Amino acid sequence: MRDPATSQELFARARDAMPGGVSSPVRAFGAVGGSPLFVQRAEGARIYDVDGNDFLDYVMSWGPLILGHAHAATVAAIAEQASRGTSFGAPHLAELELAETVRGVYPGVERVRFTSSGTEAVQSAVRLARAATGRSHIVKFEGCYHGHGDGMLVAAGSGAITLGQPSSAGVPADIAGLTLVLGLDDVTPLRALMRGRGGEVAAIVVEPMPANNGLLLQRPEFLQAIRELATDHGALVLFDEVISGFRVARGGAAELYGVEPDLVTFGKILGGGVPCGAFAGRSELMEQLAPNGPTYHAGTLSGNPLAMVAGLETIRALADGRVYGELEELGARMEEGVARIVRDGGFPVRLVREGSVFWLSFSADQPPRRADQIPEGAAEPYAKFFRGCLSRGVCLAPSAFEVGFLSAAHRPADIDETVDVFAAALRDAFA
Ligand code: PLP
Repeated sequence: MRDPATSQELFARARDAMPGGVSSPVRAFGAVGGSPLFVQRAEGARIYDVDGNDFLDYVMSWGPLILGHAHAATVAAIAEQASRGTSFGAPHLAELELAETVRGVYPGVERVRFTSSGTEAVQSAVRLARAATGRSHIVKFEGCYHGHGDGMLVAAGSGAITLGQPSSAGVPADIAGLTLVLGLDDVTPLRALMRGRGGEVAAIVVEPMPANNGLLLQRPEFLQAIRELATDHGALVLFDEVISGFRVARGGAAELYGVEPDLVTFGKILGGGVPCGAFAGRSELMEQLAPNGPTYHAGTLSGNPLAMVAGLETIRALADGRVYGELEELGARMEEGVARIVRDGGFPVRLVREGSVFWLSFSADQPPRRADQIPEGAAEPYAKFFRGCLSRGVCLAPSAFEVGFLSAAHRPADIDETVDVFAAALRDAFA
């Protein structure tokens, strides 16, 4: 790797102009040390920095780029749309087509409302759940991340957990108090809570595939129990599929696990790499939104044409299932490779994976299903491992708690190269 001098210079300048030098905290490399790369361009499975280095990328913009960077058909659709207008603030065909596409693939969805981010989608879906049930509280699970809306920054994952701040300053206690937090993978406390306070709960909110505090794969029975307890107590189930939507199957984790929520939120892949989110559900709920109902949601750039065409192009490419098959093969190849190097080197590490989402758990224990099962102290060897990977041309998320993403642009040879880099970086980490 060449000296990242230009990135370092730019980062020093950025810190003078932007808090922490970044627009989103994890990007600052605070948990792994060093200076973030300033990216010049990206193509396929690779990113290129301003110092002339290139890297095999497994961050993939934190999930949207299931087809890879600068996917040709997606770029062409964006360029073509841009020449016809970048924003209308009025209905247009691509928006309708994407709404119909979502409705056609996600279980139980009859109406879709677009937003500009996943955070906004969750906030608005929670408001709708409160309006529809006439209740104030929500249940969320420790380590799940649902964007940075006030009530969601309670025991949150992602950047919040990376920085050791699972809750945020500036969230009034009255608002935080409306969020009831439970651990994942345990039905007993959920049952007790719903028995005692179920009448106050508007929605049980969960990432059906929790991927923001490591990858805490859930048993389908736990999701089914959430479904049943919510129904029994008149609460709604909100699946936050901002990561898992279109990623683990066309119908997201709902299809994968066979559990249907009342409301669902999307982001990331839905916009094909352009800012986008959505919330969706049955018509009787969604029709309670303005202008038809009393629950307000709006957005200057909601349903933005660039995002709609990029999302359409991306989701169309997933239609025949071929990409999911290829991603599964790549994932299995990485899993086998990591199992081999871990066995040979005796490293206390496991690869946890669902399809094209993977996480290196820095522990030899069974893969955790709850945030509190992740051993303390994993962050330190991860930071060394991360730097070892980066110096050898493999870019992972700069946090022990964030997952990695495979894309259709990764090739089997990329995976083999990555496994070799992992082996060397693990030797560094545990030297
Ligand atoms: N929900 C989940 C599950 C997420 O992973 C994220 C972001 O990573 C969000 C919500 C927030 O989405 P955004 O960053 O687009 O606001």
